[in-house]
Amino acid sequence: MSLTNRILIAMVAGILLGSLLDLILDSSGVAPAVHTIIQDYLVNGVLDLVGRVFISSLKLLVVPLVLVSLICGSSSLGDSARMGPIAAKTLVLYLSTTAIAISIALGVAVLVGPGTHVSLPGVAEFQVGKAPPLVDVLANIVPSNPIAAMADGNMLQIIVFALLFGYAISHAGDPGKRIAAFFRDLEEVIMRMVGILMNLAPYGVFALLATLFSDMGISAIIDLAAYFFTVLAVLIFHALVVYSVLLKTLAGVSPSIMMKKMRSVWAFAFSTASSGATLPITLRTVEKRLGVQNSVAGFTVPLGATINMDGTAIMQGVATVFIAQVYGVDLSLSAYITVILTATLASIGTAAVPGVGLITLAMVLGQAGLPVEGIALIIGVDRLLDMVRTAVNVTGDATVAVVVGRSENQFDEQIYLNPKADMDTG
Ligand code: ASP
Repeated sequence: MSLTNRILIAMVAGILLGSLLDLILDSSGVAPAVHTIIQDYLVNGVLDLVGRVFISSLKLLVVPLVLVSLICGSSSLGDSARMGPIAAKTLVLYLSTTAIAISIALGVAVLVGPGTHVSLPGVAEFQVGKAPPLVDVLANIVPSNPIAAMADGNMLQIIVFALLFGYAISHAGDPGKRIAAFFRDLEEVIMRMVGILMNLAPYGVFALLATLFSDMGISAIIDLAAYFFTVLAVLIFHALVVYSVLLKTLAGVSPSIMMKKMRSVWAFAFSTASSGATLPITLRTVEKRLGVQNSVAGFTVPLGATINMDGTAIMQGVATVFIAQVYGVDLSLSAYITVILTATLASIGTAAVPGVGLITLAMVLGQAGLPVEGIALIIGVDRLLDMVRTAVNVTGDATVAVVVGRSENQFDEQIYLNPKADMDTG
């Protein structure tokens, strides 16, 4: 059986087991001893352990892979004049897809009115973390210490260092050639590591989802059904329709092929709820299964994992309208425009980890003059939506990588069309 199918089966099994455990733990008839065994030994013990080891095994690959892949990519470009257009196209596409995502979300939410029949609960409290100001984010892009940047996993700084290093390699004559050969070998080895660790995925995905669903409180979805399903519908629309249109019109490739090859990446994104932890799998899939060369993929994908969050923007759009409706606030046209701008820019400054979308949502609400405590209203279903929107976020990264790769002639259509490309990891 292919790895993708094994991962998908593990996903379903994990969700089923978790939901079953949730029922057992919540039922009053369960003996205390059974409750302890399930909660302390199974959920908080074995399943939690396997899930955490799995996440760490993914994260350990992120920094080496991004660094090496980007050095290879930028050094192989040779014609360094292409770097500017690649970066410009990537940024424009990331920002515009996010703006499109949030505009659709606002439009649909206004039409559906998910918050119109919800009454405001007594006191809603929510403490939010602070997102850094944009100037700081921009000023910090250039690392003063690349080793510290790698130790902290600061993606933007690593990208800048790797780009400079790769550029220098391609201009350093014979020594540069020797170093480039070394990094190409290193990239093969690290990609192999990704392949090896991907074999853990069925167990990891199973354990993560079982742990999560054993504590999910599905009943929250019923209370917030209108909000939940509006976000979900826009997420699915964006992933399947908007990206397909982009792939078809801008890259001239069949979207269904990409969607098929993205299934295992989705499973990783869904179960980890982190674009960052999924990054090694996204990068390997984009390069080896979708055929984007690493001169483009090595830059576009890590950057996307950090700054491109269309799914998150969709949640923010619907949540803003929802909260405004619950609190009975009428949003003006300029408030909508502020929401679009803030959500698009805020996504640049926040890390690709679970739940970060809520922090940026606090900024968006603040800018639109809405009460930040409103976040407490939607928090009950946020984890589940986080999983789905992370899958959308990584699909956006892959789509832009294919579009830019195609337009820069850094795209191998044979690999894209070959359903068996890199099958050992798919
Ligand atoms: N978990 C999302 C991601 O990593 C970010 C968010 O929406 O909270 O892409």
